[in-house]
Amino acid sequence: MIPPIESIVIPEEQIQKKICELALRICQDFSGEPLVVVSVLKGGFIFHADLIRALPLDTETGFLSLSSYRGDTQPQSEIIETKMPLPYLKGRNVLLLEDIYDSGASMAYAYQRCLRENPKTLKTCIFLIKEGVKRKTETPIDYAGFTIPNIFVVGYGLDYQERYRQLPYIAVLRLNEQ
Ligand code: IMP
Ligand code: MG
Repeated sequence: MIPPIESIVIPEEQIQKKICELALRICQDFSGEPLVVVSVLKGGFIFHADLIRALPLDTETGFLSLSSYRGDTQPQSEIIETKMPLPYLKGRNVLLLEDIYDSGASMAYAYQRCLRENPKTLKTCIFLIKEGVKRKTETPIDYAGFTIPNIFVVGYGLDYQERYRQLPYIAVLRLNEQ
């Protein structure tokens, strides 16, 4: 497959360097304590896999399956959760991961969903933050990967109509050609 890429926004090497930096900070902040890492599917799965492998901590993995896009580039305001079991979060340190902070609706939903389980601590880590987006709700962000302009990107878990998640970099597509 030759992906119809307009430009690479964040190359693979920069992503891998950022994963190491985030892992180091998270590890220092939790000072060796076990951590439940919960990410939002589907977009967060590659970030999740890379981050936990770089974290020298005892981690448990969980997922929240949310959808707010219907395979398009326009947001859908309602968040739909597919029921799947979360790990036991009560009284535990939880790190919530999200691929991208766009309207912020998924993160707000995921944050409240985790809070309801009464964790000991709840921290958030977002791989990409879109600049200049007006958000109805803001969720506290403890760790952030990169800030990007308000553009539609793919790769590193992010899709366009379920494609291009496997790209090891963040890119902009030539939307008339895929
Ligand atoms: P929200 O608007 O912050 O709730 O983001 C909802 C979801 O939309 C994210 O978790 C992504 O899966 C998806 N999304 C938002 N912006 C992009 C993008 O630029 N490319 C691909 N998916 C995106
Ligand atoms: Mg998506």
